[in-house]
Amino acid sequence: MQLYESQEIKVYNSLTGKKEVFKPINTGHIGMYVCGPTVYSNVHLGNCRTFMSFDMIFRYFKHLGYKVRYVRNITDAGHLVDDAEDGEDKIAKKARLEKLEPMEVVQRYTVDFHNILEKFNFLPPSIEPTATGHIIEQIEIIKDILEKGFAYETNGSVYFDVAKFNQEHEYGKLSGRKLEDMIANTRDLAAQDDKHNPQDFALWKKAEPQHIMRWPSPWGDGFPGWHLECTAMSTKYLGETFDIHGGGMDLKFPHHECEIAQAEACNGQSPVNYWLHANMLTLNGRKMAKSTGNSILPGEIFSGENDILSKPFSPSMVRFFMMQAHYTSILDMSNDALLASEKGFNKLMEAFNSLKSLQTSKTTDFDFKGWKASCYAAMNDDFNTPILIAKLFDAVKHINLIKEGTESITETDKQELEQTLQNFVFDVLGLENKNSSDADTEKLGGVVELLIELRKAARENKDFATSDKIRDQLAELGIQLKDGKEGTTYSL
Ligand SMILES: [Zn+2]
Repeated sequence: MQLYESQEIKVYNSLTGKKEVFKPINTGHIGMYVCGPTVYSNVHLGNCRTFMSFDMIFRYFKHLGYKVRYVRNITDAGHLVDDAEDGEDKIAKKARLEKLEPMEVVQRYTVDFHNILEKFNFLPPSIEPTATGHIIEQIEIIKDILEKGFAYETNGSVYFDVAKFNQEHEYGKLSGRKLEDMIANTRDLAAQDDKHNPQDFALWKKAEPQHIMRWPSPWGDGFPGWHLECTAMSTKYLGETFDIHGGGMDLKFPHHECEIAQAEACNGQSPVNYWLHANMLTLNGRKMAKSTGNSILPGEIFSGENDILSKPFSPSMVRFFMMQAHYTSILDMSNDALLASEKGFNKLMEAFNSLKSLQTSKTTDFDFKGWKASCYAAMNDDFNTPILIAKLFDAVKHINLIKEGTESITETDKQELEQTLQNFVFDVLGLENKNSSDADTEKLGGVVELLIELRKAARENKDFATSDKIRDQLAELGIQLKDGKEGTTYSL
């Protein structure tokens, strides 16, 4: 018997706005599609949070014994600047500015994406398809939509006819928008546009002569619209209707709405049973944006090279921090929040590592079975990782009481406790145990803090020769000290 047979999972379905009992189409199998990154710049920390949420969901399904086909794509063509319908391809623009082949841009940032995800201990998806690898499939879908009368061709471009689709289907059902309101809220751009209506979206765009990313098609040289690739790849690998489609909250409209329209236009049926959306990550209470300086790259957290931070944080610690919030809630990151989270993370790892040497007795003083069931209950309730973590800290409390001799545990329960913690902490949450390099980093941190103290004392005694020596020699070792209003911080 597989674990999933005894567990009932409820998920918040964005399509219905309700928590629903999750029932896969084929017993024991799950098909899950998540919109991947557009690889034209370093992966954004907010995107890491989204992908991490689905990595945790993927891990939990696997833990329960499901066979999961998890498809997460790479967008390497068709995504235009500002998510607009007109304008330059994000990758082509970067290639032009940096004088690179578009595929050099794609390669560089795909490698960066994989490196960062590996540091965060992500499991690779089952399939990671690219948009440029599925141009033929996308052209076939456009032909199908044209044949069914839900698209039209103008000047070498093909557009989806939203008004026509809305007569028989419901455009806007995922994001809760009404087509009439959308029409009322847009100025009529039809006069200077190839589109019949401003709400229509491109399935195929004609490539202007200067456009470097282009493919031949029945409508001339061009490139696919951004929304189309996900329909092509999810249908190809998961079928016309599959279990779960995930992505960031910001993709609900128009991207996911357009995916639904394309698939329903082709197949006449809803493509996805459960739509899951992960919420955003803010920094110091504000939206992250490069333009305002309120932004941080994953690599800068690991090295501490950003003025927002007082010290470096390990990828596993940052993962723990992210798992402390529910994936549908906004999570705010700050130096203080990370510092507080780090204390908890260390406490959890210390408790786990002390389990082996724990003395056992004839009885267990706490309700071990009830505790274990509560961990599953937390995860079954729409993957509630903050509740799960609270339960894990209940175990930490018991472990510490057993260590002190105030509580006891049997050998069998101890072994089962160790296995359960292993399952939830490492397999499901995807945290990594403090290995020697982490422990060394922590020791090094302690030594640097000590030197910062000594340097402060030297400066107070006006012994600038010593204080400068400490700063310069640390710099030679690659450790930068930064003096600020709040004291001295460091980066590696
Ligand atoms: Zn997508």
